[in-house]
Amino acid sequence: MMDHVIQFEEKKWRDSKGIARWINHSCEPNCGVKDLFKIVAMRDIKSGEEITWDYEMTEKHPWWRMKCECGSNDCRKIIGNYDNMPQAIRDKYKGYISEWLTNK
Ligand SMILES: [Zn+2]
Repeated sequence: MMDHVIQFEEKKWRDSKGIARWINHSCEPNCGVKDLFKIVAMRDIKSGEEITWDYEMTEKHPWWRMKCECGSNDCRKIIGNYDNMPQAIRDKYKGYISEWLTNK
């Protein structure tokens, strides 16, 4: 199922058997991606707060899109392709975007 894979090359995805499988997307996430598969905190996370990351930190899928209802003020509504991520958001996530998207 597309919702449970992490992209790491132009046409390659890995099944996220680890904890990433259970982490939801948010357009205002508290976690980001290091290297290719490491989910790390971007800021302090309160006890009981839901862990989230932004799927466009790893995904540049040609057709898969997800409707987002995360409710954040910065919600982009439709996500699924890093190419669509605004520059301001990329700057905000600097250092927390999958290296296959940034090492070009
Ligand atoms: Zn959203």
